[in-house]
Amino acid sequence: MKILLPLLILCLTGSHGFPAGLKTSKQDLQIVQNYLQKFYNLKPDDRDGVKIPKQKPISPFVEKLKEMQKFFGLEVTGKPDEETLKTMKEPRCGVPDVFPFVITEGNPKWERNNLTYSIENYTPDLTKEDVDDSIRKAFKVWSDVSPLTFTKISKGEADIKISFYYGDHYDNSPFDGPNGILAHAFQPGLGIGGDAHFDEDENWTTDYRNYNLYRVAAHEFGHSLGLSHSTDIGALMFPSYAFADPNDIQLSQDDIDAIQSIYGPTNNPVQPTGTTTPQACDTKLTFDAVTTVRGEKMFFKDRFYLRTNPYFPETEVNLISLFWPSLPSGIEAAHEVEEKDIVRFFKGTKYWVARGQNVLPGYPKDIYSTFGFPATVKKIDASSSDIYNGKTYFFVGDKYWRYDEYRRSMDAGYPKLITDDFPGIGTKVDAVVRDNDFLYFFSGTRQYKFEPKTKRVVALLKTNSWFNCGNY
Ligand SMILES: [Zn+2]
Ligand SMILES: [Zn+2]
Repeated sequence: MKILLPLLILCLTGSHGFPAGLKTSKQDLQIVQNYLQKFYNLKPDDRDGVKIPKQKPISPFVEKLKEMQKFFGLEVTGKPDEETLKTMKEPRCGVPDVFPFVITEGNPKWERNNLTYSIENYTPDLTKEDVDDSIRKAFKVWSDVSPLTFTKISKGEADIKISFYYGDHYDNSPFDGPNGILAHAFQPGLGIGGDAHFDEDENWTTDYRNYNLYRVAAHEFGHSLGLSHSTDIGALMFPSYAFADPNDIQLSQDDIDAIQSIYGPTNNPVQPTGTTTPQACDTKLTFDAVTTVRGEKMFFKDRFYLRTNPYFPETEVNLISLFWPSLPSGIEAAHEVEEKDIVRFFKGTKYWVARGQNVLPGYPKDIYSTFGFPATVKKIDASSSDIYNGKTYFFVGDKYWRYDEYRRSMDAGYPKLITDDFPGIGTKVDAVVRDNDFLYFFSGTRQYKFEPKTKRVVALLKTNSWFNCGNY
């Protein structure tokens, strides 16, 4: 019998938790009211927001709440449920998601491509060099994908002025102490236009600890250049500060399209491309790896995972780094060894081991010393472990290996050809996952349901058959 361990990872910030209880405290309602006022242009005199309206058919509070839920890809309930509250409590940018009015006709933009910036004061949290470096790198994120250039000046008035402020600093957008709002920036323009302000009550860092200045500055400078918030969870311009590797900022195609729609393409012959956030019901969806994690299936694609959740009809799509901050993007194979309560992740010649949401210390390790692969193996395409016989299968090119979890060595007689023992699944495997007595092989946009007992494919499926996408 399989023992399903409690799914502790469900409790992570930002991931879908359990359905909300019926009661929302007065304090929480106040948080919702404030949030909608600050970021969704809810008027302060919409007093009915303090209680959940029951009779009124249209309430600005409910409408704004729905707008927020839609923006963040949450279930649109119009109620301040647990998931919504959790999102509202996440650290974020102070720039509203919905503007009260159009400030300038069209999109405000700089009329020159060669812009200047100045650092007006320095945070005591970091050395001057670290601040300079973080800011320089943050501008480079944008100059790499546009014709813009940024030059630091120390004399005269710069286009973009960078300052660290505590609390109210007289621009009608006071900071709020530690956490909450971390920074804000103004649209391109004269005077305060383009300027970026950072909350000095935060602890600014250059690493994983909160909050990485480079990461936050790169987002803010998007505003300084005229971008608004994106609803794409994978975009740098998403309003919540994501948990992604702060020193490996990857722009999404959405970010690149946004900046290039204002300033045009780069001067390089080859235009940069960004990541695309996978859509669960995209029939062209392909996966890098699929594994079970304590009873649930997780599908990996670039920087993202997709996960079905018994409590929500919609498939959860989020950043891998949300669960495992130290894992790289582009995982190539993954499998769970249930009896050891671990999940192994493979990329290139390295692998990581996680238990629940913790990547175990000492990883990554190389695949040669642990599993005994020959030096000719440079990456694993797919892997799956079988709890019943203690064997783990590794698929590499058109061959597969079998590893014994008890003896901790590769079984003799391997590799074998995939076609010998898994006929019908083709010779290129992207991912494989076990479910009851079947193996599900993913190859491009196809998925093969394979019965090992009879060695045959019993069904051909779309890759996203596990998601609630309706019939098509
Ligand atoms: Zn922002
Ligand atoms: Zn400010």
